[in-house]
Amino acid sequence: GTIVLGGGSGFIGTALSNLLKSKGYNIVVVSRTPGPSRMTWSELQSGGLPKGTTAVVSLAGQNVLDPTRGWSPGFKQNVWASRVHTTKYLADAIKEADVKPKVFVSTSGVGFYPPSMTKEYDESSEGGDFDFLSKLCTDWENATQLPANLNVRTVIIRCGVVLGRNGGMIRQMFLPFYLGLGGPVGSGNQYLPWIHIHDVASLYLHAIETKDLTGVLNGVAPQLITNKEFAKSFGRALWRPSFIPLPTFVLNMMFSEERAKIMTEGQKVIPKKVIKSGFNYAYPDINSAAKEFAKLIY
Ligand code: NDP
Repeated sequence: GTIVLGGGSGFIGTALSNLLKSKGYNIVVVSRTPGPSRMTWSELQSGGLPKGTTAVVSLAGQNVLDPTRGWSPGFKQNVWASRVHTTKYLADAIKEADVKPKVFVSTSGVGFYPPSMTKEYDESSEGGDFDFLSKLCTDWENATQLPANLNVRTVIIRCGVVLGRNGGMIRQMFLPFYLGLGGPVGSGNQYLPWIHIHDVASLYLHAIETKDLTGVLNGVAPQLITNKEFAKSFGRALWRPSFIPLPTFVLNMMFSEERAKIMTEGQKVIPKKVIKSGFNYAYPDINSAAKEFAKLIY
């Protein structure tokens, strides 16, 4: 069948579309820019889902941590709309489709759960109501809502920080760590919910293919690590020292405190339902993951 990936041109989307193509699926990416095997958001709104669409995935979003963009009201609005509106456009296209896709998989973040050094959160834990990013997660998740009588199975993946050589946090941190200038953020004691790019792509595939799976999944690895443990593993995998701490106030200055929290604070997130559903991780621990994403040649 055909799988429609909203925002499928990005870091996670590229890994997922390569995996899906290797399994024989046909992929159509919804993008702001037209191109082969693509449709634009306005084409989706006017023409609907391509014929034969069996699954729809929502992955679009303006990069929250873009250091060149100030944390202004306009940028925050962009961060919000690029997730909530695109997800809503996909939900609307599903409602309009003559033949409904079987499954709708959407994205959210572990920022849904309040930062804490002690609490452990699984998929049934409360959250989503305490700051800008947590409220964004709630709106983003609510944008997936479809009338129950459509019988479209819906899964939401609350992703931790996705670690892979070609995007996200590792792409931004590779050079300082390679130069031996990397290290923990602040005290380094805050938890860092993480997942390897390979595993997050497999988890979307698992959500698409597992017939009875619905609702929220925590898209994180089973091993809980702190920011300091992350820095140590990454440094070791590159054969570099990694003890120079990045002070919290520097990040607060660069990103503004509200957004810097993504790095300066954290929470213990458990993928309880993911494990119960029988998902197998290729990189369950940070040392094996770091060996992979620290490779110099790809
Ligand atoms: P990317 O930064 O790679 O962006 C994904 C795609 O979103 C882009 O390729 C782009 O597609 C589209 N996009 C960007 N800005 C806008 C905009 N203003 N309006 C509409 N579309 C836009 O994201 P990732 O692949 O890393 O992540 C995918 C989703 O998962 C995001 O929503 C992200 O918030 C979430 N997530 C990611 C984490 C991570 O560590 N990577 C962690 C937690 C959640 P195009 O240019 O083709 O239109």
